[in-house]
Amino acid sequence: MFEGEQGAASEASPLDAAWAAIRAELKRSCGARTFDGWLKPIKLEDFDADSGTVRLSLPSQFMANWVETHFAEQIRAAWRAMLPIVRYVTIEAGAESTRPTLVTAELIEEPEPAPAGPAEAGPVATVPASADASPFEARYSFESFVVGKANELAYNAARTLAEGGQLAFNPLFLHGGTGLGKTHLMHAIGQEWLRRQPGSRVIYMSAEKFMFEFVSAMRAKDTYSFKARLRAADVLMIDDVQFISGKDSTQEEFFHTMNEIISAKKRLVITADRSPQDLEGIESRIQSRLTWGLVADVNPADFELRYNILVKKLEAMPEAQVPREVVMFLARRISSNVRELEGALNRVVAYALLTGREIDMAFTEETLADLLRANQRRITIDEIQRRVSDHYRIRQAEMSSARRAREVARPRQIAMYLAKQLTPRSLPEIGRRFGGRDHTTVIHAVRQIEKLRQSDAELDADVRLLMRQLEG
Ligand code: ADP
Ligand code: MG
Repeated sequence: MFEGEQGAASEASPLDAAWAAIRAELKRSCGARTFDGWLKPIKLEDFDADSGTVRLSLPSQFMANWVETHFAEQIRAAWRAMLPIVRYVTIEAGAESTRPTLVTAELIEEPEPAPAGPAEAGPVATVPASADASPFEARYSFESFVVGKANELAYNAARTLAEGGQLAFNPLFLHGGTGLGKTHLMHAIGQEWLRRQPGSRVIYMSAEKFMFEFVSAMRAKDTYSFKARLRAADVLMIDDVQFISGKDSTQEEFFHTMNEIISAKKRLVITADRSPQDLEGIESRIQSRLTWGLVADVNPADFELRYNILVKKLEAMPEAQVPREVVMFLARRISSNVRELEGALNRVVAYALLTGREIDMAFTEETLADLLRANQRRITIDEIQRRVSDHYRIRQAEMSSARRAREVARPRQIAMYLAKQLTPRSLPEIGRRFGGRDHTTVIHAVRQIEKLRQSDAELDADVRLLMRQLEG
């Protein structure tokens, strides 16, 4: 159970870990300024497991009302996403606040959104004078990034760039699916760069913010100062540029600006969910300019990387008792992306804490039922036949042919066996897909392969390999 302040204050409990993750998410979605002004002061008071209520507090009634009015929905949604057991989130004024005055609507006027920052306004995450105001997430560092085959190119490129040596490539274009660590790498670049060259200017922003800012500048007929600000940066990082797709004329302007930045030899880092060639509606001249630098893809993590990432995350939660079997299970089954994998681990750990239950397989499956279903990859019989034929270098047509020679009959049996193990298809259905064979033939094949797997190590290795490939 959650033990309240003491445990929470000394070492990070999983509930704190969940809260930290929620705060990080809020910071990202609301922006650092808003976050620092309004959300950072929120204190997690307690959690009542019976009613499923999380109690949050703020230093004053005014702030509590403000947060309730403006951010309650977001905060509640974030809690529920992290811990479905949470049903209510209350936001109140903490003990220190004397006189809980009733704040009327008139009283709530838009206050300065945050302790005022430097005069230079806008979404640009300018380099802070104090480490406190850093726009970068400390936990998104190179040290906390786990490297594997899927991401080593991107990681090495990011590191090289961050070390600030000779400009070997520009821009760095990182692309890959969602939740694979692109933003993490950008934050790591920013922090490493600043550590080595304190006082330099690093600008990080989402493409949406860039667009917004750019359009505002165009409306104000002052794109010059906007561009000048960007060109003054030593490192400029724009995250998720695919959001700038569309036939808008501003899009073209956007890429021209990118182009100018490259020409000015400023380090530019761009991420997208697809390669430069696949970005739509961009002048091909600019497209090719974007590929002049280094284009590194971030691929979905394989099992080994997923496992290593979980182990790394667990190092940061020393109090969490997660058996190896469960870690393996998560790594095997949550294969969609790292964000989900991380979310799954957090959920299991926090949920166990909140309910006082031990983390074992049954608990994990129960807690993650929805995620596990969503991650179930649908393997088709066609895919199995293709893989098996490739593996044994036979034509796929042999899967349905009547030939009984060993070199085709055995692979066919293996394919039937895999179809039984990896798809929900019935025996007669499987038989039909293998050239209209009878279901008893399928049963025979399944038994045969089961038996051979015990005695024939080579065949067993083949079957395992195929299973791994098919399960992704
Ligand atoms: P993207 O920007 O590609 O959508 P993020 O950078 O936001 O993905 O990563 C999603 C989450 O997964 C983050 O919490 C990040 O720390 C984590 N993550 C992704 N890849 C790795 C990795 N290789 N090692 C450690 N954490 C990772
Ligand atoms: Mg991202």
